[in-house]
Amino acid sequence: MTAIDYDLEFLEDGRTIELISIGMVRDDGREYYAVNRDMPVQRIRKHKWLMENVVPSLPKGHGDAKIHMPKRWLFHYADPVVKHRERIANEVMDFIRSAGPDVQLWANYGAYDHVALAQLWGRMIDLPEGVPMFTHDIQQERSRQGLGWDDLPQQESGEHNALADARHNQTVRLWLASRQEAA
Ligand SMILES: [Mg+2]
Repeated sequence: MTAIDYDLEFLEDGRTIELISIGMVRDDGREYYAVNRDMPVQRIRKHKWLMENVVPSLPKGHGDAKIHMPKRWLFHYADPVVKHRERIANEVMDFIRSAGPDVQLWANYGAYDHVALAQLWGRMIDLPEGVPMFTHDIQQERSRQGLGWDDLPQQESGEHNALADARHNQTVRLWLASRQEAA
């Protein structure tokens, strides 16, 4: 079994879930991070929480590129992690499939993450072969072990950066697993 811990940042309005960024971490150390250049920037700009918590960690370019990034941009369009949604869908599919046939997806409070992930490829029925139809939830395992949220390892930095969150999810999942083994 190989596990992939992942996290999505998204704009969610009670009806739709729009991808902003995705981070994935595999047990073998491989990682994936992408920012959706097709994200609905106008709507995100009006979303105070996203502007304060998620947008600051989006790529702003380095060196000269940073200096020359127009102020109205939420992220730097020329950064290599910024990609069209369709390309992200293909790369995420490859990332999951190349983990092998026996892959588990894991996320934290992962219901919305799973839907937004699956919608990369369209409808439920369009889910590519080799992509699991469900995501294991760290919260379910926490609850099953009779633990509270405060009992889990806490994230030290980078909260709401999808890759940092995915790495932390991996830390927590492995911690829960080792605890289980010791019991
Ligand atoms: Mg997150």
